[in-house]
Amino acid sequence: MELLPVRPTRKGPASAFTGDVYVTPICVGTGPSRMSVSLVRFTPGAHTNWHHHAVGQTLHVTEGVGLVGTRDGTVLRIHAGETIVCPPGEDHWHGAAPDTFMSHLAMLETKPDGGDPTTWLEPVTDQHYEQADNKTRRH
Ligand code: MN
Repeated sequence: MELLPVRPTRKGPASAFTGDVYVTPICVGTGPSRMSVSLVRFTPGAHTNWHHHAVGQTLHVTEGVGLVGTRDGTVLRIHAGETIVCPPGEDHWHGAAPDTFMSHLAMLETKPDGGDPTTWLEPVTDQHYEQADNKTRRH
């Protein structure tokens, strides 16, 4: 077995995220296992662009409250301890609720060549994000 070093946390790039997001790689598959796991920390209001994953993605919320949405208008309010499965190729976004941090483990598989299987698309509009929050907020 091998004890891996603590990997540096990097800032999520503005090309893929709105707001401040920090990504800490935990493991990156190089074969035969192609499992890739990162801890992603979203500051309040921060969220991903629209995107999809070649073979899907599983998210496990470790802290806080967040939002996840798909193109058909489905929005879920997600909480620590919950797990969300995003199917292969389905456009979606995820992030923190406006007034709280949200952290999740992002689990997926790298491509056979070791590359990132994520296709990044356009930013989620402020209006869409606000609607997603309003639609799922408990008053
Ligand atoms: Mn995703």
